[in-house]
Amino acid sequence: MAFGDGALQQHYRLLLGIEAPWRVEDVKLEMADKKVEIRLSWTEGAKARCPECGQDCGVYDHAPERSWRHLDTMQFQTIIHARTPRVNCSTHGVKTVVVPWAEPHGRFSRLFERFAIDVLLCARSWTQAQALMGLSWDEVRHIVRRAVARGLSRRELDGLRYLGIDEKNFGAGQSYISVMTDLERSRVLEVVEDRTQASAEALWDTLSEVQRWQIEAVAMDMWEPFLKASRERAPQAEVVHDKFHIASHLNEAVDEVRRKEHKELMAQGDATLTGTRQLWLFNPLNFTAEQAVEFASLRDSGLKVARAWAAKELFSRLWHYRYEGAARKFFRNWFGWVSRSRLKPLIKVARMLKSHLDNILTYLRHPITNAVTEGLNSKIQTLKANARGFRSFENYRLRILFFCGKLDLYPL
Ligand SMILES: [Zn+2]
Repeated sequence: MAFGDGALQQHYRLLLGIEAPWRVEDVKLEMADKKVEIRLSWTEGAKARCPECGQDCGVYDHAPERSWRHLDTMQFQTIIHARTPRVNCSTHGVKTVVVPWAEPHGRFSRLFERFAIDVLLCARSWTQAQALMGLSWDEVRHIVRRAVARGLSRRELDGLRYLGIDEKNFGAGQSYISVMTDLERSRVLEVVEDRTQASAEALWDTLSEVQRWQIEAVAMDMWEPFLKASRERAPQAEVVHDKFHIASHLNEAVDEVRRKEHKELMAQGDATLTGTRQLWLFNPLNFTAEQAVEFASLRDSGLKVARAWAAKELFSRLWHYRYEGAARKFFRNWFGWVSRSRLKPLIKVARMLKSHLDNILTYLRHPITNAVTEGLNSKIQTLKANARGFRSFENYRLRILFFCGKLDLYPL
């Protein structure tokens, strides 16, 4: 069905905000496909602007017809078709003019891209968003890739002080990604494959040399490749070994002690430790009344796991010291006690802590941790569940930056 009376042309001209010399040539309603096809054209003889210098130039010719999806009209997909004029600029030669309704190289109008970004940000899954908007996966990726590229090019990185570098398990098996976060603004700065020194260096290289030199401290696990990369790329930045990573190393040691002891007890028919795994790992402050009672008797049982647990709990006092000298003294005492405990898994962690002590006590000067970005961590975890298929790392990276980069994603 076509409309020739001009009213609909006028209607769409206003809706699209099209100004002369662009005009709505015709509007076709395809009832069967539920589509509105709008053809725009450039008034013959009108001058056009060179995209490089903005000078008014004569039109040289028209590029082949292209189409852009626009916001739906009453649930009818609305497609703009046009042949874009090419100018012949005396300075820049033959150039395709910039159309007012879309960004260069876009397959969608600005308004549609803006709308799609909002839907993608809100939708529970991108499959759902795709279905809502009638987009293919390829089109979604096109929109997301452009949104992230836009955001990265506009991003302000000056004044960064505190960074976090962390690894995350990705996909099946032993594959990892490394993530750099801005701890003060809780945003992901970059994501790379693997967790090697080279990957951490690639993260640092997203910053300029000046920006790197402004970094005061970086939080990370006691992972040598990350440590080396920081020394290499930002030697002035103090490394602060993340206290939550340290707590999880200690928790694993406590759990190892419990497992071994439980086996020994069970061999003698003693089920004291059955079903207690969580109790030793939880924060006692979060116990239910029932758990608190159960735990109180276990804690005073004289079991090995109880001693391991006490050592773990005691260690956390370190974070409350204000002066390095006092903290070192505390650590020495703690280390001595653990060394004499004969609890092997714990002694192993204590030695690791001792060898990294300088970069643990930096916490007293820079109380930073990767858990400031805990919200980000769980978000990244959720995104992982949906990142499948071919080129999945690249998709995963785009999704992380799209959701967690605090980027300005929208077309202007
Ligand atoms: Zn020009």
